[in-house]
Amino acid sequence: MTHTNGAPGDPPDGPRWPGTPREDMQALPREGTPASAYPGAPVPGHGGAPDAAAAPGYGLPATHREPRAEAFGSRLNWLRAAVLGANDGIVSTAGVVVGVAGATPSRAALLTAGLAGLLAGSMSMAAGEYVSVSTQRDAQRAALAAERRELREQPEEELAELAGLLRERGLSPEIAREAAEQLTRRDALRAHASEELGIDPDALTKPWHAAGASFLAFTAGALLPLLAIVLPPSSTRLAVTVLSVLAALALTGWSSARLGAAPVAPALLRTMGGGALAMAVTYAAGSLLHAAGVG
Ligand SMILES: [Zn+2]
Repeated sequence: MTHTNGAPGDPPDGPRWPGTPREDMQALPREGTPASAYPGAPVPGHGGAPDAAAAPGYGLPATHREPRAEAFGSRLNWLRAAVLGANDGIVSTAGVVVGVAGATPSRAALLTAGLAGLLAGSMSMAAGEYVSVSTQRDAQRAALAAERRELREQPEEELAELAGLLRERGLSPEIAREAAEQLTRRDALRAHASEELGIDPDALTKPWHAAGASFLAFTAGALLPLLAIVLPPSSTRLAVTVLSVLAALALTGWSSARLGAAPVAPALLRTMGGGALAMAVTYAAGSLLHAAGVG
């Protein structure tokens, strides 16, 4: 039961499987700079994802960090994180209940295993998210504190640094200098946080939000295979579960591909293929146990 560690960082090519490191693209301080694996990951010197990154984990390619684009990206990140959290809940709980169904027809056993899988998975996701986002927030706060100190102790160097960053963005030296001066007069810390660290000081990631979102997303996904295995009569429960799981995975694969503006077909193949594989493996394991006299 791996947690996705939330950060908006899934590449635009569809959902990742649990445990796969995700790049936080939203929060990239600069194009091409490797960012945190997830919002929770501290990015030394860069502060990782802003609230944009509050989103547990998956991001959009950061081509720029214009504030409005960031707010938009933030919502998309949350949405993608929710889809992928649900995907994890579907796959892992489907694997659990189908595996148990391979060993025993007992509805009580299926319900117990499915419920335990749901709770263990959602709590593990939430705990992982909480830890990673807390760590990220600590790193962001430390980076902001350092920036504040530098602004106080060496304002000239900081002004030159800001102008340099603006030149890298394509401004001419004169305009970069003028822009840096204006930004510094208005809100020096905010300007440095944004240009240098990729952080919005007012929108640091909230660990409990990220944890709660992961918990809910995973639970929502996990409920589907749980209900699909315990509600139908024993003769059809396996078929109902496999079909509804594949249909739900088609939906999550499609959604995450659309959210990332990625091709749909490969995303569908990956999500549905991954789910089918998980169910096949656990069903085989359950059947072997049954053949061995267990269950
Ligand atoms: Zn600075």
